[in-house]
Formats: sequence, structure tokens, C-alpha cells
Amino acid sequence: MQERIKAIEQRIQAACEACGRPRASVGLVAVSKTKPVEMIEEAYAAGLRCFGENRAQEIVAKKPLLPEDIRWDFIGNLQKNKIKYLLGQVAMIHSVNSEDLARAIQLQAEKRALIQDILVEVNIAEEASKQGADLDKARGLLRLCDSLPNLNLRGLMAVPPPSDDPEDSRPHFRALRALKEEMAPLLSHSPGFDQLSMGMSGDFETAIEEGATLIRIGSALFGAREQKQSNENLEKPVI
Ligand SMILES: *Cc1c(COP(=O)(O)O)cnc(C)c1O
Repeated sequence: MQERIKAIEQRIQAACEACGRPRASVGLVAVSKTKPVEMIEEAYAAGLRCFGENRAQEIVAKKPLLPEDIRWDFIGNLQKNKIKYLLGQVAMIHSVNSEDLARAIQLQAEKRALIQDILVEVNIAEEASKQGADLDKARGLLRLCDSLPNLNLRGLMAVPPPSDDPEDSRPHFRALRALKEEMAPLLSHSPGFDQLSMGMSGDFETAIEEGATLIRIGSALFGAREQKQSNENLEKPVI
């Protein structure tokens, strides 16, 4: 795994150099979902400090077993009854995809007197199969998040349709960036609205070229995930 991490780091550096961006302008979220704590320890030893998970119960289970200076990001579809496990535990929720969810996070963050960094997830290719805000709804959702005092709206996130050709993602990355540029001047309570979370194992170099500030890489670092996560596991956990 150390070799894989080194190779990915070199590819990130090369992609940054090729488009004249400083390496420090691209944050790497190592997506450790389904992977055991031992693999995260190994990745930590190799220098990685930010890990992404898509289930609240996995963060709750793994976090206490790992070094405290790890930054945890939540990247999955968030059920409202799981918000309480994430607040104060994760640096960023990448996946705020409905007004309902935004209001629910606001309510609980206010109760706990904390401010949660979030990204609005955009269904950028407007796929019918996918939950979340299409471009038009995203504008409204962004204005709402901007107005909620316990949400710190930091930017946008998207997962383009799966494809073997990273060029297929490019127009979607461009559209996400264009939405960010369009909306930034309109969000008067969100001075830190500057993040674009886009790019995964198959297309992160393209995402860097198109302005990603957070790339979310799982399988290229940790190897393929054995199986699709089943919903069954969701029901019988730790929390
Ligand atoms: C699993 C996942 C990733 C990582 O995907 P890889 O193709 O394994 O790099 C990135 N983002 C989200 C939202 C994910 O669920």
C-alpha cells in the first residue's frame, strides 16, 4: 500500500504541475470506507491525514481507534437520524443534498452550539437514479445553506456518472466549477465558499485540471472494495 500511496501522490503532483497549481491547493481525502483500521494506520504511517467515510457508524467505530490528528470527512448519503453521530466528529460533510437535510443539520448544530462545515452535493449530470439537487435545485439549496447560521457553506461536491474514460467527467467538473463561480458572489454569509470536491480514482487528474480542491480517492489507494456495501449492514451496527 505504501507504494500505491507514493504512486498516487506522484500523480497528484504531476497533475498539479501540468496545470500550474500548487500541490497544497489540492486536498486528498483517502476514502477508507469498508477498509479495516489496520489499513488506515498504514496509510497514516505513509503520511495521509484525511480520511473519508460514507457511513456514520463506520466513522463512530473507527475514529476512537486511530490517531487524533486525523481529519474525518463524511462523503455518503446522510440519513437525518445519523446526523448526531457526525456533528463535532467530522471536519466536513460533503453530501448535503436536500433542504430537509440542511435544516436538520442546522437544528442539531444549533442545539450543540457548533458550526459544521458542509458542501452542497450537486447531481451534476441530472441522473434520475441519483438523489440530490440538480443544478436548478442546487441554487436554492445553496441560498438556504448560506442563510443557516450553524452551517459553514464551503463549496460544492459532485460524483459524475461512472465511466472508464476520465474525459467523460470533464464537462461535469466544468459545470460544477461554473456553478461555484456563478453562486459565490450571491452567498453573502459564506466567505469561505471556495471548495470543489470532485475527482475519484478514475478521474482525479482531470478534476485537478478543472479546479478540484478536494479529491476523494478510494480504490486507487486501498485496492478494490470487495463487494458493494449492502444495506443490510446499515441496520445492524454499533450505533
Ligand atoms: C467510494 C467513493 C469515492 C471513492 O471512489 P474510488 O473510485 O474508489 O476512488 C469517492 N467519493 C464518494 C462519494 C464515494 O462514495
